Amino acid sequence: MNDRSPPDGVDKFAIFRRLESQVRSYSRSFPVVFSTARGAQLFARDGTAYLDFLMGCSSLNYGHNPPELKAALAEYIASDGITHGLDLYNEAKESFLREFHETILKPRQLDYVVQFPGPTGANAVEAALKLARKITGRPNIIAFTNGFHGVSLGALSCTGSRHHRAAAGQLLGGVSRLPYDGYLGSGVDTADYLDRLLSDPSSGIDAPAAVIVETVQGEGGLNVAGTAWLRKLAAIAHGHGALLIVDDIQAGVGRTDAFFSFEAAGLHPDIVTMAKSISGYGLPMALVLIDRKLDRWEPGEHNGTFRGNCHAFITARAALEHFWRTDSFAASVREKGNLLKNRLDQIVQKYDASRASVKGRGMMRGIDLKSGEVAGQVISTAFQKGLIVETAGPHDEVVKCLPPLVIGEDQLSQGLDILEDAVDCVIGNPASTAALRGGS
Ligand SMILES: *Cc1c(COP(=O)(O)O)cnc(C)c1O
Repeated sequence: MNDRSPPDGVDKFAIFRRLESQVRSYSRSFPVVFSTARGAQLFARDGTAYLDFLMGCSSLNYGHNPPELKAALAEYIASDGITHGLDLYNEAKESFLREFHETILKPRQLDYVVQFPGPTGANAVEAALKLARKITGRPNIIAFTNGFHGVSLGALSCTGSRHHRAAAGQLLGGVSRLPYDGYLGSGVDTADYLDRLLSDPSSGIDAPAAVIVETVQGEGGLNVAGTAWLRKLAAIAHGHGALLIVDDIQAGVGRTDAFFSFEAAGLHPDIVTMAKSISGYGLPMALVLIDRKLDRWEPGEHNGTFRGNCHAFITARAALEHFWRTDSFAASVREKGNLLKNRLDQIVQKYDASRASVKGRGMMRGIDLKSGEVAGQVISTAFQKGLIVETAGPHDEVVKCLPPLVIGEDQLSQGLDILEDAVDCVIGNPASTAALRGGS
C-alpha cells in the first residue's frame, strides 16, 4: 500500500474532493483509488482486482501496459531517447512513420500524408475541420445527430450532446446537423435526405466543406452506420464538392476488427482523424491522415507544442509491428467480437425487446437498457461485482463494453457473467434466469 494513503476512518477521497474540480467525471462512477493495471485488469489500492471493459474509453485496445510496448518504451527511455521532439525530425518519429507506411497504409493502398496535431482527439478534429474549410473555401460542415467529436469549440460544434454543448457558453456555428443512419427508423434513408438538401439551392443548408462521420458512434450510444449508407454518404459528399472526414478516434485501431473502421465499407475518406488507441499504450498521440492531393497546409499554419510525443511514437510503432504485420490479430478480434455479440444476445433474450437490446459492432458493443437510470444501476452493480463498464448514448442508456482487444476468452466471459448478473439484479427475475441457464 502507498504510505501516503489516508489511515482507516479518514475519507479515502479527501484530496480529490478538496482539490480536484467538480468537472471530474469517470471517478464518480468508480469511486476507488486505483494503483496498478495489467492486461484487462485494474487494481485498486486495497488490492481489489477489477476487469476493465472501459479501457480508457478505447485508448487501451492492447490492454493495460502491454509487455511488448512497455519493453520498447523502457529501452528507449533508458537510452536517453528524445522525449519531447516538437516537430523536429527524429528517429522515434521516423521509425513510426516507416512502420505506419509499411504495415498500415501500403497494404491498404491508402495514399495519405500524416499530420501530427496536438495529442488529443479534439486536436485532430480541429485540424481536420480547419483544413477542409481552407481547401474548399466553405465554412459549413455536416455533422450527425448523436455524433461525438470532442469538446474544444470547433469539435464541439460537431458534437451533438446538449450537456457538452451547453458548457460552451457561446454559439456553436458553422455546422448543419443531419440525421445519422437509422435515426428516423429503418424506413428512412437519411443519406437520401442529405442528398436532397444539398441538391436544392433553396433548402437552407449551405454547401459544406466536409461531412464528418463516425462509422460507429461511440459516445452517441453504439449506433452503427450501414455499409451501403456510408458508401452513399461518401458519394453524396463528393458529388457536392465536399470532403469526407471519418472520425476514427474511437472505432479505429482494430476496435471493429480491421485497423480502420471504414475498411468494411471500402471507403477511402479524404481525411481521417485518429487518437485514443493509436499510441497503443495510453500515451497522448493523435493523427490526421490527409489524402496526398489535399495537403494544402502552409508550413506551421496549424501547430502545437506537443506534436512530438516521442514516447508515444515508440509504443505506436511497437504496437503496429507486434499486432498488425499479419492479419491474425484482426481475425482474432473478429472472433471475439462475435463471442461478445452472442453473449450479449443471450443476456437480452431473457427480456422483452422494449427493455433491452444489443447494439454496436466488433468489440464495441453493448446493451441498450432504454433508460439511463436502469443503465446507471447496472454499471454500479457491475462495479460492485468487479467489472468496470460505462454508459453511452443521449440518455446514458447504453451499457457500452469496450474490452481490450487482447483479452482472453476466459476473462471476456468472466466480465460478461458479471454484466449478466448485474442486468438480472437490476431488471431481471433471478429465478427465471436460473431456469433459462439450466435449460440451455
Ligand atoms: C474521444 C473522441 C474524440 C475526442 O478525443 P479527445 O482525446 O477526448 O479530445 C473525438 N471523436 C471521437 C469519435 C471520440 O470518441
